[in-house]
Amino acid sequence: MSITQGGRPLPLRIERQEGRRIAVEWRDAHRSLYPMRHLRGRCPCANCVDEGSGKRRYFEADAPEDLGFSDVWLVGNYALGIRFSDGHETGIFTYDYLRSICPCPACSEPAGGADQKVQPKVPTSDQGGGVG
Ligand SMILES: [Zn+2]
Ligand SMILES: [Zn+2]
Repeated sequence: MSITQGGRPLPLRIERQEGRRIAVEWRDAHRSLYPMRHLRGRCPCANCVDEGSGKRRYFEADAPEDLGFSDVWLVGNYALGIRFSDGHETGIFTYDYLRSICPCPACSEPAGGADQKVQPKVPTSDQGGGVG
């Protein structure tokens, strides 16, 4: 059950970080940081998930530890395409899907927890140096 107020999750900003991670800032001010292995192990394409059974064939543990990406592009206005550094590029990550696999503690918690905790702010060292 994923209810978002006012419609689908949409990214305000997508940042490529060092060829290793993608940071997405969402319209509802949520921020997601995706390591490439996390995405590679959740790639929804037919090579990674068996179309017949729906069973996943490629897991995060299968990905090399130093996996990065060589390209990231927008697919229409609903998804992100990623070419991983292992050459895999057939996965289309819709924004809905991306948001659903956000690895942050708040999103990883099982649904149903009623009390909202304030997340501690993680200090970021890569600020300043305005590109874009
Ligand atoms: Zn795939
Ligand atoms: Zn999250």
